[in-house]
Amino acid sequence: MSNPLDELYRDIIMDHYRYPRGHKKLDRADMSGEGNNPLCGDEIEVRLKLDGDTVQDLSVGCRGCAISVASGSMLYEIVRGKSLDEVRQVAAVVKALIKGEALPPNINIDMGDLEALQGVRKFPVRVKCALLAWTTLTESIESFERQEVRHITTTE
Ligand code: ZN
Repeated sequence: MSNPLDELYRDIIMDHYRYPRGHKKLDRADMSGEGNNPLCGDEIEVRLKLDGDTVQDLSVGCRGCAISVASGSMLYEIVRGKSLDEVRQVAAVVKALIKGEALPPNINIDMGDLEALQGVRKFPVRVKCALLAWTTLTESIESFERQEVRHITTTE
């Protein structure tokens, strides 16, 4: 890990891990989903509040390794304020980036900190950690659009 780019990526990931952006409470959620990655013990809950088909706000609660938490934190930053169509596009690009696959054509999205996740493709075990937030998000959207919304009730 002496490559300066690797070090930059590691710093970005550690910053998101220490200060996850999406850890907060929503007054209501229109869709939500939970995911877990048994290989590593990562757990995540994504909740979205919509305004029409725009993600007005969301929360991402994640417990696990640095990669899974950082990926969820970055998801929060890029998804907020986007339409569900845009969210689906972003998710497709991010999944390709993480897996090292060819990016979908004609997509122009500023990936910001998400670029830092491409380092995980060299570590197959870590790929699942990085994908967890995105898989949970896209499955929640698909479930929502099939009108099989899962409402999660928390008691505290
Ligand atoms: Zn993990």
